[in-house]
Amino acid sequence: NTQDIKILLLENVNQSGKDILTAQGYQVEALKTSLPEDQLIEKIRRLTQYRDVHVIGIRSKTKLNEKVLKEAKNLLVIGCFCIGTNQVNLEYAARHGIAVFNSPFANSRSVAELVIAEIITLARQLGDRSNEMHRGAWNKVSSKCWEIRGKTLGIVGYGHIGSQLSVLAEAMGMNVIYYDVVSLMALGTARQVPTLTSLLNQADFVTLHVPELPETKNMISAAQLAEMKDGSYLINASRGTVVDIPALINAMRSGKIAGAALDVFPTEPRANGDYFNNSLNGWDEDLRSLNNIILTPHIGGSTEEAQRAIGIEVGDALVRYINQGVTIGSVNMPEVNLRSLTSEESDYARVIFIHQNVPGVLRRVNEILGEHNVDKQISDSRGDCAYLMADVSNVQTSDLRDILENLEALSSRILTRVLY
Ligand code: NAD
Repeated sequence: NTQDIKILLLENVNQSGKDILTAQGYQVEALKTSLPEDQLIEKIRRLTQYRDVHVIGIRSKTKLNEKVLKEAKNLLVIGCFCIGTNQVNLEYAARHGIAVFNSPFANSRSVAELVIAEIITLARQLGDRSNEMHRGAWNKVSSKCWEIRGKTLGIVGYGHIGSQLSVLAEAMGMNVIYYDVVSLMALGTARQVPTLTSLLNQADFVTLHVPELPETKNMISAAQLAEMKDGSYLINASRGTVVDIPALINAMRSGKIAGAALDVFPTEPRANGDYFNNSLNGWDEDLRSLNNIILTPHIGGSTEEAQRAIGIEVGDALVRYINQGVTIGSVNMPEVNLRSLTSEESDYARVIFIHQNVPGVLRRVNEILGEHNVDKQISDSRGDCAYLMADVSNVQTSDLRDILENLEALSSRILTRVLY
């Protein structure tokens, strides 16, 4: 029954997402901010005691680690209304049958547009001129201010954002080169280069669009900055760990790097209001003292269009999962789908059996389901977790109770659901 589904949303999830969930009749409680671990645990404990929580929706700040997830005993699914899912312990979630969804592409265009704005802003020192005017100083200069036409943009990571940016930059007359760990089709007249060094040697503007991984930590450090052209520019709107900030500060002080734009930082405040905190090791003072550096509070994907699109994408994925058990787009479960049941098919039930990926399970499941008319069945695995979906027809409530009880008794069971 949809009215029994209880949802806790944190971090001011977009109205588009809330509307999709409330339209289903789910009970939705929406908080404006993220909660620190102890308060989140407290909140989940209270919910579990009185009315439970089946769905948690977050954005990038709320940490859903093992300690927190342990408290949410009846959690079915987590919606990350953002791109990244590092804030969730995906493996723990999968082991406990909790599917996790995110929105991988909804804000790519917004980030690419921001980077275009930053390229021109850095080339023309617009941030400095504007700051000077705000302080009452008229400082008309053309020295070291450039057009971007004919300059080379080096894109590191040619995924959703990098490739979108490639098209926009070429439209403004830039030459585009890119470096990626995989070989990817070039858009327009862009050209893939074989190494990061080769990109750094040639680019007037270097922009980073790689994921946060052990391999990308401090990917741009002193050695890489030294390989960049004199007077070139660096833009990071990917993840804060990708750039070694003290090394960048040195390279800007020496004039090697003529300008930089940072939208992301190794640690970021949890909510609006508190400016850089001490965990930046005092680098914030140094960053603020530099010329021609654009500092923005992780706003790459922060547009009305992107937030709305994320709300819709994740909201729809949650509804599909809750009502139909469909895992398409899940980041931690095998992707399993069967055509949706329609309301005319009232004698149908959909059985979902999430289980450990160990030998012999399907035989036992089929012994249980085999008593009935299984119309369709599909299963897939991902790591240690396997997901089986079966549509059974001509079943009575008592049959379903038996199926549920028998499946629940299997030792490989992680989670069983019967939807109809
Ligand atoms: P994506 O997964 O579509 O593309 C990433 C690309 O990087 C892939 O092509 C991958 O092959 C490549 N790559 C991975 N490791 C690499 C390495 N070591 N060297 C070179 N290339 C490597 O990701 P995306 O959607 O384009 O997002 C890119 C980054 O932007 C992510 O870090 C994401 O978190 C971040 N992001 C930031 C904001 C923001 O608000 N600033 C918004 C959205 C995304």
